[in-house]
Amino acid sequence: MCLGATADSACEAGAVIVVAGAGLAGLQTVVALRSRGYVGQLVLVGAEAEPPYDRPPLSKQLLRGETDSTTLEADWPALDVDLRLSTRALGVGDHVLTTDRGELPFDRLVLATGAQPRRLPGADHALTLRTRADALELRAAIRPGARLVIVGAGWIGAEVATAAAAVGTAVTVVEGLEAPLAGALPSDVGHRMLPWWSGVDLRLCARVSKVQNDAVTVVGGGRIAADLVLVAVGATPTVVDGVELTPEGAVAVDAQLRTSRPDVFAVGDCASWPSHRYGTRMLVEHWDNALHGPTAVAANCLGAADVWDPVPYFWSEQWGRMLQYAGHHPAGDHIVWREDGERWAAFWLAGNRLVSAVTVDRPRDLVQARRLMQRSGAVDGALLADPTVAVKDCAL
Ligand SMILES: Cc1cc2nc3c(=O)[nH]c(=O)nc-3n(C[C@H](O)[C@H](O)[C@H](O)COP(=O)(O)OP(=O)(O)OC[C@H]3O[C@@H](n4cnc5c(N)ncnc54)[C@H](O)[C@@H]3O)c2cc1C
Repeated sequence: MCLGATADSACEAGAVIVVAGAGLAGLQTVVALRSRGYVGQLVLVGAEAEPPYDRPPLSKQLLRGETDSTTLEADWPALDVDLRLSTRALGVGDHVLTTDRGELPFDRLVLATGAQPRRLPGADHALTLRTRADALELRAAIRPGARLVIVGAGWIGAEVATAAAAVGTAVTVVEGLEAPLAGALPSDVGHRMLPWWSGVDLRLCARVSKVQNDAVTVVGGGRIAADLVLVAVGATPTVVDGVELTPEGAVAVDAQLRTSRPDVFAVGDCASWPSHRYGTRMLVEHWDNALHGPTAVAANCLGAADVWDPVPYFWSEQWGRMLQYAGHHPAGDHIVWREDGERWAAFWLAGNRLVSAVTVDRPRDLVQARRLMQRSGAVDGALLADPTVAVKDCAL
């Protein structure tokens, strides 16, 4: 019995829902469809040869040698999913998905094709980190005395540098901007993190002119020899033909995660939605979005009209610290710092409304800040600066 949308044809036993992309968002979508009572046929198409696995541990536990497998748990018999691995979706037509292994008719289609590492011109051969195979290759190369050059001091660059430096690899990180994480956070936040990077050779404002397997050449900075080069300069959405894209190349969806085709939805790293909360389109390439977005997409596939407009959240583990972020800081007009030695936080406010927070080893602050943001709550900025005051008590 399909819950919440019984009149919808997609709820019927004879219906077919196809999900393209067998990562976290794809798996969560099939789980959410079944838990909402969908009894029809369910096909999950994945380009990779292995069943859905988790990516955050690839740059953390797997690199540290604490695990080899990050396979996501699923009760496949109960899900009753036709899982088609090593199958790549190519394009969407009228109720048909074309793959490299033939055509799949559908009543509803969910695109959950994720993202892929951005590459540098002329460096297609260089290692990037997105798949489990990439992580295993990287792990084999990070050993005492080896020379690793990482292009990019973003989230992945920071986590890989952390793991490699910890085992005695000589790490050089080449970053074009003026601070670590400057692609994601204002550089005054990144500047505060500079001392964390003291164990590696971090070269800021350094423009890469050439990437080879055994060296990176920096404009005005010479050639940096390497045993392995990792290019970690962000990701771009992975898309298929036949649906409208945003200018940045993501699948354009509406507030209900519906694409330009009424029977096709998209979720996770590949999809950009219009956020009423922030007054702009959001493309969030983080785990929490891929975990929870499928709840809305599954409901809407089955005829509901759930709006997806979350307060985004992500975390990063680097240099022995837990860094967490919630919200959308470009929506803020000033910043409030909460100082407490190594454990600090920064909050962005629009007027007196809290719109974003980054915390370092202050998980409780982050949880409370996110709750306030979900309520669009006004806060007392002066109180927020005081680390002895609970963030929840700063609400006005
Ligand atoms: C190394 C690493 C570390 C990370 N660490 C963190 C972290 O600490 N915190 C955090 O918040 N986020 C982190 N992330 C981001 C997080 O993992 C992603 O946001 C999440 O994986 C997105 O899930 P997804 O299902 O949308 O996409 P993906 O995980 O990319 O899954 C998409 C799947 O679709 C497949 N696919 C692609 N194209 C096709 C096609 N045409 N046909 C069929 N299948 C296709 C892909 O092969 C892939 O298996 C990390 C990511 C990486 C790579």
